[in-house]
Amino acid sequence: MKFNKPLYFCTECKSVVKQLQKLLFVEEHSTKGFCSETCIEDFYHPLVKHFENLDKKTRKELSIDREAIYQTKDDKTLVEEVLHTPSEVWQIENELSESFFSYIRHYEDYSAIVLCTVYNKQASFIFFKTLTRSEEYLQEFRLKKSEIIENERHAIEEVESISGESFNEEDFQFMQLLESKKSSLLADLLTKRLDSDISFEEFTNYEFCFQETLETPDEVFESKDKEGDVFFTYIKSFIKDQSNFFYIISCLKRVSAESTEDVSVFPVLAFPTNDMDLYLEFRSGNRIAGPLKN
Ligand SMILES: [Zn+2]
Repeated sequence: MKFNKPLYFCTECKSVVKQLQKLLFVEEHSTKGFCSETCIEDFYHPLVKHFENLDKKTRKELSIDREAIYQTKDDKTLVEEVLHTPSEVWQIENELSESFFSYIRHYEDYSAIVLCTVYNKQASFIFFKTLTRSEEYLQEFRLKKSEIIENERHAIEEVESISGESFNEEDFQFMQLLESKKSSLLADLLTKRLDSDISFEEFTNYEFCFQETLETPDEVFESKDKEGDVFFTYIKSFIKDQSNFFYIISCLKRVSAESTEDVSVFPVLAFPTNDMDLYLEFRSGNRIAGPLKN
């Protein structure tokens, strides 16, 4: 170790680590890195206490100190359900760009709230979870709809709007499958993308293409991945600021367990690209719709 070498250390215990990769992060866009799970817990412990007290105080003010809500799930299952398939996600940001996130999921006669930090678009440190029937209390957790999470939820919302009924075990498993397909498709895309391609930061400027590509694609291809799951790839070309690009949406096919007639598709990954090779790569499998292009 030399004085003129970059130095990385744990935010909590200040231990110096050999490389940046050794640090664990729990907040997006934050320089707070930790050497271990224990240090993460120690660091946030006072905030956990803070939120617990705030919860007590707020409930007292609203006269809902003791809400008798019974639910049969264990805490872990409940938290996972709220985080994977929330009904709402809110971001509470301060002027230092530090954010806390509240995930809310509505059940039949109550709502569950999980307050946490988010890293890599996923909940990373959980401060607390609580159940309520009070709309006033729920309101305490809503500041600004989270944009980070909102894009991630496209697929989830599709499921909810199409099924229109509450989640069952089969839905939950399918959501998990969707999540894992998304991670592997994204990882694959990252290795293939050129530096000259449209940057991730700009993706939000291309969201207008999403609906149009699904509704009036130029082409649709059907293909199978390694696990034998069927994908439909929707492709449409667009022109923006005088340059040509493609919008590509990979959708996973779902066949209902009850009836094989009942088929629906769910978007897994959607992105714009100006890379002809990448476009050609996604044009694989059987073409099932769209005019032939040369
Ligand atoms: Zn440490």
